[in-house]
Amino acid sequence: MPTEVIFYTQVASIISFITALFVLYRVLVQQKDAVIQLLKERIAEKDEQITILKAQTPDALAAALADRIKIAQDEIARLRNDGDSHIKEIESKEEELAEIQARLGALSELIRQSDLVCPKCGDPLTRRQGYTIYGNDDQEADVEFIEYECGLAIDGNGKEVSRCRHVQPT
Ligand SMILES: [Zn+2]
Repeated sequence: MPTEVIFYTQVASIISFITALFVLYRVLVQQKDAVIQLLKERIAEKDEQITILKAQTPDALAAALADRIKIAQDEIARLRNDGDSHIKEIESKEEELAEIQARLGALSELIRQSDLVCPKCGDPLTRRQGYTIYGNDDQEADVEFIEYECGLAIDGNGKEVSRCRHVQPT
């Protein structure tokens, strides 16, 4: 083979190699963009979920239930004013009202039991900090220090280290 042919063959193979590399590079870049796009969408989804969860705090839930109680009461009053023709409707509305009130009661009880509010005055939780205590024989236990807006603070042993300023001890 003449040297010239060998030379051009070499050049051609180098060019095709570089072209292949370039194509591969483009493919990789496109994939990366696709992954970034996917991650962005996931983040947006998570943000949305967080917003929804925030709206479901006990306060928001309690407020929503209280609103429904008000609406039901207004409706009952309106039906009463309309006269006796609505007795059935009034009864069903009153049942609905009782049900909502029971749910609100259950929710209040749940909040009271959950350490989210001061068990004495109902002030909200301001600090909750977990820590580990070590006993004899290398025993350990994870406990929580809890503090409320009213000043009540309870350490990991369940001992009151600071009093609720709204309720006097009996
Ligand atoms: Zn308190």
